[in-house]
Amino acid sequence: MNDTPLAESTRIVLTGVRNAGKSSLMNNLFEKNAAIVSDTPGTTTDPVTRKIELGKMGPCAVTDTAGFDDEGDLGQQRIGKTRNRLKTADLILFVTPGDKPVVQEEREILKELQGGTRPWIGIISFGDRELHDEKADFFPTGEFIRLDNSRSGSARPLIELMEKKAAKVNREMTPVEGLVKEQDLVLLVTPIDLAAPAGRLIMPQVETIRDLLDRDCAALILKERELYSFYRNLGIKPSLVITDSQAFHKVAADIPEDQPLTSFSLLFARKKGNPAYFIESLKALRDFPEKGRVLVMESCSHHRQADDLGTVKIPRLFKQLVGSRVEFGHSRTMPEHPEEWDMIIHCAGCMITQKAMLGKLETFREKGIPVLNYGLFLAWANGLLPRALEPFPELAALYEE
Ligand code: SF4
Repeated sequence: MNDTPLAESTRIVLTGVRNAGKSSLMNNLFEKNAAIVSDTPGTTTDPVTRKIELGKMGPCAVTDTAGFDDEGDLGQQRIGKTRNRLKTADLILFVTPGDKPVVQEEREILKELQGGTRPWIGIISFGDRELHDEKADFFPTGEFIRLDNSRSGSARPLIELMEKKAAKVNREMTPVEGLVKEQDLVLLVTPIDLAAPAGRLIMPQVETIRDLLDRDCAALILKERELYSFYRNLGIKPSLVITDSQAFHKVAADIPEDQPLTSFSLLFARKKGNPAYFIESLKALRDFPEKGRVLVMESCSHHRQADDLGTVKIPRLFKQLVGSRVEFGHSRTMPEHPEEWDMIIHCAGCMITQKAMLGKLETFREKGIPVLNYGLFLAWANGLLPRALEPFPELAALYEE
């Protein structure tokens, strides 16, 4: 369970005001001291995430957050972090102390949850104390549970309710969903260059192979250098060729024009993000400001090689094709002031959930900032985007438009 990537865990986020009993609930769920519990308001400052296997939900990542009524500049920053976590949650547990009156921040949280799209459950904590009148009818019927977190095993009814809610969570699509059928042969092209991690394949490749096996397809994997002769000796036409974006140009040149071809990065643009918004964002390349600013974002840390994609190759291509005076920045976290950037180019985001990626995209889109992903940009830069989009007719049509 600890080896399950966060991207594949159900993300459960606890929210509420300070001293609502969030950390006690966390400990009750984990049946141990996973979070520090104290009567001093504001004990939890930064979000704390722990992994647990919870009933039918399987691997879950549970995050305890700072109180929504936190004070001062630091408090506001913590509330910002809590909001970011809520944007990526599969299920939200809104905790309120049963023995205290409703406070304004709690009314605001409830309003946001009721107006939002994420599943949530109200938790009335301190079930061993007398229930305050205002809490008795605070939550809508059927949307809450009353809990005494000091009693061992009391979380069982909550876990059952969570299982029901989590069953409605939108499932992230798999890499080749809708693109292949049983018995198909799919050719995967993965350069093994200096940038490749030693002794293993990267996550998008591994996930794609597993998805092909789950769909009773055959996956044939080779390096771009072997492709030309191997393809000609193959004897059958693969249903699809999927390449690493960096080898797109060579791969497209080495196989017939009528061979369906796409990239791992485009599969992940569809799996994790909003490819329609990426395509719409291409328009921004036409009249890009001469001294515009582009932020390249990655979702995990990895060892950078000399010709690193995010810090070297993409900026170089962008300057050649769009504007030589464009300035580049790099980040693994959300920028504090997104509006300072004219464009975002994001990695495939294989290590984060679709919700996390969509949460970021929502923020950029609201501010009118165009976003591309690595694969889409590289396919465009190589003049191969129409071909890479052929396997996705609705996206190809959007691009044509
Ligand atoms: S999350 Fe992004 S940077 Fe990290 S391995 Fe996946 S694609 Fe690469």
